[in-house]
Amino acid sequence: MPLTFTHHGAVDGVTGSCHQLALPDGQSVLIDCGLFQGAETSSDGAGADKLEIGFALDKVRALIVTHVHIDHVGRIPYLLAAGYKGPIVCSEASALLLPLVIEDALEVGFTRDKALIGRVLAVLRRQIVPLAYKQWHTVIAGVPGLRARLSPAGHILGSAYVELDAKLASGSVPGQRQRVVFSGDLGAPYTPLLPAPKAPMAADVVVMESTYGDRNHEARKTRRQRLQALCEHAFGNRGTLLVPAFSIGRTQELLYELEEIIHRHRQRPAAAGMAWGEVDVIVDSPLAADFTAGYAQLKSHWDREARRKLAAGRHPLAFEQVTTIGDHATHLRTVEALARSARPAIVIAASGMCSGGRIVNYLKAMLGDARHDVLFCGYQAAGTPGRAIQTYGPRGGYVDLDGKRFDIRAGIHTLGGFSAHADQKGLLDFIGRMRTQPRQVRLVHGDDAAKRTLAGLLRQRHPGVDVVVP
Ligand SMILES: [Zn+2]
Repeated sequence: MPLTFTHHGAVDGVTGSCHQLALPDGQSVLIDCGLFQGAETSSDGAGADKLEIGFALDKVRALIVTHVHIDHVGRIPYLLAAGYKGPIVCSEASALLLPLVIEDALEVGFTRDKALIGRVLAVLRRQIVPLAYKQWHTVIAGVPGLRARLSPAGHILGSAYVELDAKLASGSVPGQRQRVVFSGDLGAPYTPLLPAPKAPMAADVVVMESTYGDRNHEARKTRRQRLQALCEHAFGNRGTLLVPAFSIGRTQELLYELEEIIHRHRQRPAAAGMAWGEVDVIVDSPLAADFTAGYAQLKSHWDREARRKLAAGRHPLAFEQVTTIGDHATHLRTVEALARSARPAIVIAASGMCSGGRIVNYLKAMLGDARHDVLFCGYQAAGTPGRAIQTYGPRGGYVDLDGKRFDIRAGIHTLGGFSAHADQKGLLDFIGRMRTQPRQVRLVHGDDAAKRTLAGLLRQRHPGVDVVVP
């Protein structure tokens, strides 16, 4: 009996990541348990509005988490509620960050009952098993036949790809093992703070993401200059620049780039009568603030460039121009003050796709005013308000927010080069640079076109590899 794969999410799209690997004896392991976002759903009907776990859990003995983005971990509370009692294996950094993400997810989507949230977090903390990178670990207590190892994936802090080493059941060649790699989300070069991922040595099967399977990232190296130019353009209208951003990863990347701009151009004008050193950067998100603190606590995981800045006395994520807004009353006051005064400022707030969170209040107050600008620097999934603003905003269209129509007069911009995902070349290299080619590559976590294009290229380059699009 071979190993069997079931992909419960991130099959027809890029959210709701949840993959199940069943061993020949029927016991199984889950890799990620994420939330669906936007219009995406799973084949069993789970979606942004249907959160329960739609498959049997009695044989699931362990959950391995590749990284703490909500589309990879958001359904963990539902897994726990469904009675899952096994280990939640993740990297040491993810172990620190995961409770923050789950706490926020519960507050936003489930309950304001602090005691209930506390109980869920206590259960979660008991089940988390932190694992250092590059260490083999027996995944299921008492089942020595299944080991896992995590390696840095370069996507967000703590992100990992997983190597699973499984001993096949009796009946096959005695002692025969199979190595399976789950890529999780793979990062790209030039991601602030994080070293780029290195390909695994060998595997029998690789389950790989394919978000950018049909595209190469352009201008990653020049994105800081373009960010600067866009900020200066926005400030030229005496308005606020709104940047919808994931609290986790993207917010810290933006802060890192803004610190570099301010460091280099402190005395130079960012707008008429205002030097870069005087620019206000407002991070309006309690989760982003907690996360930035988590990133700061995990400095030992930063890349060389970031550590060099620290050694030079700089604070790449917590520089003096940054104001962090925690409580809701201050948030509302800030929205009102900026909408009225049109004082040049940069506001970074979640959610990255404008489907909820504090950015929505800013958009409602400012989209109708041409002095302001909105900057997208992340993927906008189909069906999200972010996608609608990005598509219809530049043509003077409108967007529906909380059931009301808002005309868009603010400037709408999209800045590429910020993706935390590997591009086509990065994905091809992940397979191409393996010392021993896999027998099979299974492409998940990508739109149809991305998966098809990447599958074609992989088949061309590696005729011996069976490329499967589940
Ligand atoms: Zn991710």
